Amino acid sequence: MKKKKENTFFGLSTPQGRSATATIRISGEKTRTALHRLTSGKIKNPKHRKSTVLNIYNKNNNLIDNVVVVFFEGPNSYTGDDLVEIHTHGNPIIINRVYNTLLDFGLRIAEPGEFTRSAYLNNKIDLIQAESILSLINSNTKEGVNLSLNNISGTLSAKTVQMRMDIISALGFVEYELDISETDTHKNTIVKTHKSVKKLLLETKELISTAKYARLKTVGARVVIYGKPNVGKSTLFNSLLNYERSIVTNIAGTTRDTIEEPSTVGNHSVVFIDTAGIRTTKNPIEKLGVVRAQEKIDEADLSIQIITKLTETVTKKTKNNLTVLNKTDLLNEAQLNNLKTNKNIIFVSAKNKSGFPTLLKHINQKLDLKTQNKSEHQITSLRQEQSLKKIQKELKEALENKENNLEIIAHHLGGAIKEFDNLLGKTSPDDILESVFSNFCVGK
Ligand code: GDP
Repeated sequence: MKKKKENTFFGLSTPQGRSATATIRISGEKTRTALHRLTSGKIKNPKHRKSTVLNIYNKNNNLIDNVVVVFFEGPNSYTGDDLVEIHTHGNPIIINRVYNTLLDFGLRIAEPGEFTRSAYLNNKIDLIQAESILSLINSNTKEGVNLSLNNISGTLSAKTVQMRMDIISALGFVEYELDISETDTHKNTIVKTHKSVKKLLLETKELISTAKYARLKTVGARVVIYGKPNVGKSTLFNSLLNYERSIVTNIAGTTRDTIEEPSTVGNHSVVFIDTAGIRTTKNPIEKLGVVRAQEKIDEADLSIQIITKLTETVTKKTKNNLTVLNKTDLLNEAQLNNLKTNKNIIFVSAKNKSGFPTLLKHINQKLDLKTQNKSEHQITSLRQEQSLKKIQKELKEALENKENNLEIIAHHLGGAIKEFDNLLGKTSPDDILESVFSNFCVGK
């Protein structure tokens, strides 16, 4: 439910540390008073969007910094309430002084995502747009940024609003029939309703199918490196990252846990995952490592099996798997040329990085295929996916009730409308809002 805290809060909107400038934002009803006090009375009646260069002071009238102040009058601000941006010099001591002064003035530090939450509570944006702001900030790829920008502008929201309207009109039709019709067959209504529900089911299915693309575009693809102990997984992992992240030894079973590091391949953002060598072992810790490795392979977007001999069991080539034969530096040219007749395998030496351009090209190609998506609308969060799955379930149940009972159809259509309201954040319970906004940083 939409519920608003009547409070004025502030937060640092730029990263911590030293920088040319840093931005502190204040939002809420006491923004003007705070600005008046902070500027030692210089700004009494701030004008919307006007920027001013001036000194700010603490409660004892000691100079804090020379800053740029920009005021936005509610409701025409990011949050929908009065809001001020203070651009200070980017020194943590200055920021600390501004913080202490604002606390002295009775303001409080913002909770994570509270600026965006206020925008949502003031009906400036819906919940899908709020999540898109988060995915915009966190996107690791150009495509992820474009997708998030598109969703912030409201295209995905407009699509879901239209789908919700379609269900409402289908429900209206069913209810009208229930009210006035004296016949028991309702044949026309059922045919018409089935047609609309089928169309909506297709649209829902298409939106759900975009969830995986969005994750690949914003967070990045999970690429697992696996194989038997000592085949050179950690060496390959380090070479792909260009630094010694994983420990390399010739003792089998050293990597016991999985190690993850982000990187990029071509246009793709990836997370490389080094795993424990897969073998039968009695050592309980190593055993756990093997189980975890298997889990990572199962969840991965792409898995790279490392082998050193062609006699090893090779995973069948699928769109999710690559097989790499490592340690080619130990082979002579004739041996290598002989092996290279096998076109399903990529040949590398992780030690001297030979074969890497081919390996990277193959990874890039696989990820290109996985991120190709022609859908006009794409969802960007797990919450959106789960919500759409609930809608899909209601629509299926509306369609599948055997006796074509109009009351049952109406019940499920009503359920789907309710879930659309959750999706857009019209009636989202507090715990859902909490989980959406807690993923933001303070100051966003
Ligand atoms: P992991 O157990 O599969 O992670 O294997 P490591 O990366 O720890 O490597 C095991 C041993 O193989 C180490 O002694 C590495 O130096 C060696 N090694 C790894 N890759 C290569 C390679 O391309 N060529 C050669 N000659 N040795 C390698």
